[in-house]
Amino acid sequence: PVSATQSNVILVTGGSGLVGSALRYVVEHETADSTYGKRKGEEWIFLSSSECDLRDIQQTRKVFNKYRPKEVIHLAARVGGLFANMSSQQTFLRDNLLMNDSVLQVSHEIRVKKVVSCLSTCVFPDQVTYPLTEEKIHLGQPHSSNFGYSHAKRLIDIQNHAYHDQFGDQFTSVIPTNVFGPGDNYNLQSAHVIPGLIHKCYLAKKNQTPFVVFGSGKPLRQFIYSRDLAKLFIWVLREYKEIDPIILSVAEEDEVPIKEVANAIIEAMNFRGPVEYDTSKADGQYRKPASNSKLTKLMKESGTKHFEFTPFKTALEESVEWFLESYDNGAR
Ligand code: NDP
Repeated sequence: PVSATQSNVILVTGGSGLVGSALRYVVEHETADSTYGKRKGEEWIFLSSSECDLRDIQQTRKVFNKYRPKEVIHLAARVGGLFANMSSQQTFLRDNLLMNDSVLQVSHEIRVKKVVSCLSTCVFPDQVTYPLTEEKIHLGQPHSSNFGYSHAKRLIDIQNHAYHDQFGDQFTSVIPTNVFGPGDNYNLQSAHVIPGLIHKCYLAKKNQTPFVVFGSGKPLRQFIYSRDLAKLFIWVLREYKEIDPIILSVAEEDEVPIKEVANAIIEAMNFRGPVEYDTSKADGQYRKPASNSKLTKLMKESGTKHFEFTPFKTALEESVEWFLESYDNGAR
């Protein structure tokens, strides 16, 4: 068989998802001389679950042998909202364990040079001191609402260290904060806060009803635009040398109150009706900031030009534009 080191393929699992489609966009739109563009000779392959069910290691072997990737960005995961997680802990645990095991084991077998996998800030301990930093992931139990998903994700970091320790494999992981962008999940039952509010505002405008935002609008969150996250993934693939995870986030001072999110959506949607804050609904935690100081320090040291995050308003407008163009009136 051809050695993986001879190929120039970068394989992206979960290539059809929110983050995967942003990676495809960045690779296709950035120029080859930019840090984030597709380099000469590189071939990027974006996998979806229809080509391979990564829970099955035989199917995974087959598809990895077909493409012989030099490097892998592993995004595929079973992700879901609060209700889905709470009612199916075992499915979230097992599906993610199986996918991660197949991808890492097969990458090891065919000697992939680097794998970058994806954790999430929700895998941090429930009881933790803020801001979140990389070394706090394993310091206590995750929140009980998604313990299946969280433990499977945390294990990626353990697997990465075990493969490195025993075989020298260069497997690492990143921890993004809340992602939003074109191609998001806009299903009202399972959507995250931004796509959920975009959808609700769209329906309020269409039905001439009030735009109801759950909670007081006061909690603060760090949001990362999927296309910014995609660029940071490419930086990690090219420049980051550690096995330990790295948080990919805007700065702590760039937290946004939910009220500001709602206002930006109202503006982007050109919604003129009444807005209500339903304070009978829980606010959740007031803030859960993550530090991006490791990222900024290492980017600087690697000689990468200062990273400009897309202004929140612009990113939101682009997401709303995508929703209005692509959304099939609530079918998704
Ligand atoms: P999406 O739900 O948008 O996409 C999930 C991807 O995984 C899809 O491409 C899907 O393929 C694929 N997938 C799911 N099950 C399987 C399977 N059994 N075999 C093969 N592929 C499968 O997720 P995101 O893009 O939002 O998330 C990407 C990564 O980022 C995940 O690892 C997630 O945990 C992480 N993350 C996401 C955050 C967010 O706010 N969205 C925050 C922090 C981390 P298909 O669609 O073809 O079925």
